[in-house]
Amino acid sequence: MSYRHPYHTLPFIGLFLMTMGCAPFATTSTVSQKGKGQKPPVWAIKQVNVIPMTTGGHVLPNVSVVISQGRILSLDGPIPPGARVIDGRGKWLIPGLIDMHVHLATDSHFGSKLPTQGATTFFDTQDVMTPYIANGVTTLFDLNSKPEHFGQRNDIARGDVIGPRMALAALINGGNGSGRIVHTPSDGRQAVRSAKAEGYEFIKVYSQLDIETYKAIIDEADKQGLKTVGHIPNAFRGKVEQAFVPHFGMVAHAEELSKQAGDFSDREAQRLAALMAANGTWLSPTMIAMKRIASQTRSLDELRASPLLRYVHPLLQSKWLTANNYNRNRTPEGIARLDQLLAFHVRLVQACKKAGVPMVAGTDTGVSGVMAGFDLHTELELLAEAGFTPEEVLNSTTRLPAIWLGIDGEVGTIEVGKRADLVLLDANPLDNVKNTRAISGVIVNGRWLSKTTLDRMLSDLSRRNTASRDQYDWKKVTGN
Ligand SMILES: [Zn+2]
Repeated sequence: MSYRHPYHTLPFIGLFLMTMGCAPFATTSTVSQKGKGQKPPVWAIKQVNVIPMTTGGHVLPNVSVVISQGRILSLDGPIPPGARVIDGRGKWLIPGLIDMHVHLATDSHFGSKLPTQGATTFFDTQDVMTPYIANGVTTLFDLNSKPEHFGQRNDIARGDVIGPRMALAALINGGNGSGRIVHTPSDGRQAVRSAKAEGYEFIKVYSQLDIETYKAIIDEADKQGLKTVGHIPNAFRGKVEQAFVPHFGMVAHAEELSKQAGDFSDREAQRLAALMAANGTWLSPTMIAMKRIASQTRSLDELRASPLLRYVHPLLQSKWLTANNYNRNRTPEGIARLDQLLAFHVRLVQACKKAGVPMVAGTDTGVSGVMAGFDLHTELELLAEAGFTPEEVLNSTTRLPAIWLGIDGEVGTIEVGKRADLVLLDANPLDNVKNTRAISGVIVNGRWLSKTTLDRMLSDLSRRNTASRDQYDWKKVTGN
């Protein structure tokens, strides 16, 4: 797409070379061409209430936060002369949010293709990232990553796109599908080593793996220094305890537990939670994905009426509204089952909380009906409804995911020396988690984006999506 985003010309805060080398996806490994020769501005957020999200950290009322070269230079220090000042009075500053389960759209080719042929459907990287940034999401975890995702990450690192930090997981499955398919432990181990060689930082295990291959993958991933996240393979039905092997780092959905439940009793929820806790396995419940699936299975009315649909790529809008398999395959029994699951997932989350299982917020964006960026806030509200305190909710999307990803030295809390990934709010999220939606501005890697800029990015995206809608008919493009 030749469209040039107007905000490319906004002042660029220098992404200058830092020899930190700790974050696997650091966005500062090269000096952007755009940053060359420009002195990066120093920013100060004046008289703001800082919610640092450090362990035991209290709110710092009415302090001035100084940001220089993409990092937090001081909390409550003097404002250097020449700094650009943002008025923080009456506002609240939290760490940038982390969505721990997304599937980012990438350039694609549908149907058969010739050697030398590239993609035929393109997803502008800025358009993919804008809804995240506009919602304060400054880090995300893609759970089925492809080479195109490295390209997107580099678009951001180069400074051509304003986007979040990206952690990338390579998916390994069994069965007969496409992708990295393995059926033996030694092939599983080789798939992990290959994924590492290709540059992936995490491994995702999937539903069709057989038991021994699954165990070998997790063991090899640990040997290679990669953490594992994923589904609990179907092969563990009736013996789920065997799935909890050392280094199975995180279960990707509450549904992976409910699929293994003998019944939907509290006792069964507690049994599953105890297995998670004993193995040190974390949970990303992704309750919002199930909620959206249940809604679409019933009817497409809610989705069709959503004011957020305009921020979704028109090809996906067409898929969701004209080729929606959840809705096509609906049965009264299926709808009743989804309602049961939604209720049981709340009790699972409660049991996990009681058992001390760390939980992180993820949306499974990519599933039809889940709105990038916006629905992370919905997931936060669902966690609050399940009984999380506002502080626990904020933890689940800041400090804890940073720890799981191994980047807590860089992001996840507001501390001197950390990267300036920050969200400025008009209201206190510790009073009500809904206030995480009251965004006054976002700082991503030291770059300030006011509410006005964020709104302009969104309206620009919406305008172009709407203008090109007629070019994207899911059935015509894909033949499905
Ligand atoms: Zn997913």
